[in-house]
Amino acid sequence: MEKINEVHVPHNTGWAGELKQDQVIRISATTTVDFVCLRRQNLRERFDQARTKVYNMKLFITTGDKLMGRNNQHMMTILADGFKEGTHDLQKGMCSGYRFQLAKQEGRLGEYYPRQINEIPDHGCYENLSKALAPFGIIPEDIPSPFNLNQHMKIDGVTGRMEHTQVRPKPGNYMELRAEIDLLVALSACPDLPVGGQPVDVLIYEP
Ligand SMILES: [Zn+2]
Repeated sequence: MEKINEVHVPHNTGWAGELKQDQVIRISATTTVDFVCLRRQNLRERFDQARTKVYNMKLFITTGDKLMGRNNQHMMTILADGFKEGTHDLQKGMCSGYRFQLAKQEGRLGEYYPRQINEIPDHGCYENLSKALAPFGIIPEDIPSPFNLNQHMKIDGVTGRMEHTQVRPKPGNYMELRAEIDLLVALSACPDLPVGGQPVDVLIYEP
């Protein structure tokens, strides 16, 4: 294993970088991580939540499953998944400053964020990913809905009702994904649980 890059992503910030085909990204976190990938040679080809769910025929993906692009291409494969207490989310978009404000105005903070929130963050994953991807010419509206690592949701199989949970990984947890094509990848250390979010550590290596 040859280390190519190592990045510490502080709480409620984002990061973007390139990943060559066959390189592996290890994402270590105890908080939710909003993750997206785009084909490096054509940044209009982006990760797609719906393609990913249908290709794998499930709502929750884990080791061995693939992240799919808009044109049904294999973008990444999950090599390791240390989150044994819960699952990862493919339903939600990104939290944002406006999203927090809207939930507050509508008196629904408790419904969306299952914890006591004294101060709502002034920005979230949408702003973090927008900032990280801006140098690559990606405008905020073109960022795909992410793969939300470590965001355990309960989904009723009959009604489809979604429920947030406070289940998050223990320290030392990580996920590893291999790039199946050359990619631009980006992630946000969500200002979520544990309260207010936590930093994320990224390691990129050649297997
Ligand atoms: Zn978030």
